[in-house]
Amino acid sequence: MSDPSRHQHWRLIDVLQEAVAYLESRHIEHARLNAERLLAHILGVSRMDLYLQFEKPLKTEEREAYKHLLRRRAGREPLQTILGETEFMSLPFNVTENVLIPRPETEILVENAIEITKTRFGNKSSIHILDIGTGSGCIAVSLARYLKNARILAVDQHPAALNLARKNAELNAVNDQIEFIRMNIIESSGMPGKIRFDLIVSNPPYIRTPDLPTLPPEIRDHEPVDALDGGPDGLRYYRSFQSILPDWLNESGAVLLEIGADQAKDVQNIFSQSPWTSIRLLQDLAGLDRVIILSK
Ligand code: GLN
Repeated sequence: MSDPSRHQHWRLIDVLQEAVAYLESRHIEHARLNAERLLAHILGVSRMDLYLQFEKPLKTEEREAYKHLLRRRAGREPLQTILGETEFMSLPFNVTENVLIPRPETEILVENAIEITKTRFGNKSSIHILDIGTGSGCIAVSLARYLKNARILAVDQHPAALNLARKNAELNAVNDQIEFIRMNIIESSGMPGKIRFDLIVSNPPYIRTPDLPTLPPEIRDHEPVDALDGGPDGLRYYRSFQSILPDWLNESGAVLLEIGADQAKDVQNIFSQSPWTSIRLLQDLAGLDRVIILSK
């Protein structure tokens, strides 16, 4: 990666420049941001701190550790799983390769869920929420954090995801508001008793199976296929939702589901039957349909 004779002192600024050039040469987008975040991680400082230490020489161990992380990133491992953490709704979340990395688009679902809950149930002493396929727990944890009267049931079919989601609930000090249980929604086995919810949220897998090989390597090779694969037409989870959610939702409740940018029509069709009297779509910042809201 470098010619040692050029760097007698291995100043931070030189090591960083070289790292940026290396990631660029490997066609990694946002090479500078990636190089800075990884170096800050190795040194245990914030990105801003790097700018105050440009002249500082790096130790051999630090350089070796940095090189190792840069190679992983060049091999298309996502930055977030290398760092082991990310941010969602301005909150910290641990991430591993066992879960979908929280996406900024999903914040639209959470922001609107918060607003709807406040408008419809603002003065209820406890609001019952179900998060289906909780993964990292990013939706459940941020709803708990921003809605103090929320009581949330978060389900996932994978124990590894549930363990991580539990850790994220602890990290954000909302573990007393969330119960995590293992459940496979397609079989819909495991739902305890006849609970009804005020709000049901989910960011289900919605990629069409034949499209999986065309995804960027960061996603295709490093995120769990079960978190992505929505079946042959990408719609299998919405179909299950149509058969089970009507029974799980309170009369005045709402369902918010994330959808693929080109799926609005098909998903609307699936939910065109009773009991839904209102169906609304929300767009993301790029103007693409991203969330569907259903009410009875
Ligand atoms: N609920 C999690 C998220 O929105 C995981 C979703 C999934 O695995 N499809 O990030």
